[in-house]
Amino acid sequence: MTKNILITGGAGFLGSHLADKYLAEDYKVTCVDNLSTGSIKNIDHLLKNKNFNFIEYDICRPVPKSLTKEKFDIIANLASPASPPHYQRLAIETLDVGSIGLKNMLDLAKKNNARFFQASTSEVYGDPEIHPQPESYKGSVNTYGPRSMYDESKRFAEALIYSYRKKYKLNTVIARFFNTYGPRMDPHDGRVVSNFIVQALEGRSLTVYGDGMQTRSFCYVDDLIEAVKILIDSNQEGPMNLGNPGEFTIIDLAKKVINLTASKSELIYETLPGDDPMQRKPDIGLAINKLHWDPKIKLDEGLKKTIDYFKTTI
Ligand code: UDP
Repeated sequence: MTKNILITGGAGFLGSHLADKYLAEDYKVTCVDNLSTGSIKNIDHLLKNKNFNFIEYDICRPVPKSLTKEKFDIIANLASPASPPHYQRLAIETLDVGSIGLKNMLDLAKKNNARFFQASTSEVYGDPEIHPQPESYKGSVNTYGPRSMYDESKRFAEALIYSYRKKYKLNTVIARFFNTYGPRMDPHDGRVVSNFIVQALEGRSLTVYGDGMQTRSFCYVDDLIEAVKILIDSNQEGPMNLGNPGEFTIIDLAKKVINLTASKSELIYETLPGDDPMQRKPDIGLAINKLHWDPKIKLDEGLKKTIDYFKTTI
């Protein structure tokens, strides 16, 4: 029998790739999104697919009939603003979606007896004092600051899922995504990969925040989505780190983008935003052991594919 998956945040960068993945495996896919940061452009190619259904819906609102009448085997919750400028602009909405919105989806999963997947984040570790970060690290997080609305929303979300799992025996799984990049990133969402590529292609200076010595580990979207599917199909509960452990300074990244775009752009240095983590790198031992998964795509290769995408869209 055809299986049915509901993807929240389905018109977003990652949600739309997850929809592609499940459609390729003959699932029936329903995407919901309130389009606050997602875009119909990301799912345009799916709208005519008979196994695909899009509903514009904010998960913080009561669940509509169009969803309650369905029977979902899996609910994958990816709804949330995710880039710092977006979640800062949509601060209250970000806290709502990780609490009220999540609760609505957990109740729907309970009613459907569905497997529930949560997209959590490396931001639960805050500005980490342990490097690389294993899942057992409890984090160094500020409850009151420019990243708190996102970090605490995602931390609260993990706690709510834990409690539903314990109380109702809900079949839940949590992944903590580290920085992910690739086609369908929003060119204007303010993330470092999209900012640098768009700036380089337009011949503008690349904006390095701080001295650019802070690090991030960048995972190509296809690698991440592959891991998400394997994780959902497994009996793991997580939380499990998913990302690429290759670690680069922001200056490294800027130089790579300039080389790969053959751009004449220079670097300009701007103020480092508050609470910006100084280093981030996943310990993916758990994913390697339990999922037999390992990211394949090296940063240069992934950046080339992402640059090709931006060349056709900006
Ligand atoms: N960053 C930067 N220039 C930009 C955008 C971001 O130097 O134009 C820095 C940012 O300060 C952070 C890193 O790049 O240290 C990654 O930022 P991003 O917003 O992509 O993700 P996050 O901080 O959530 O990991």
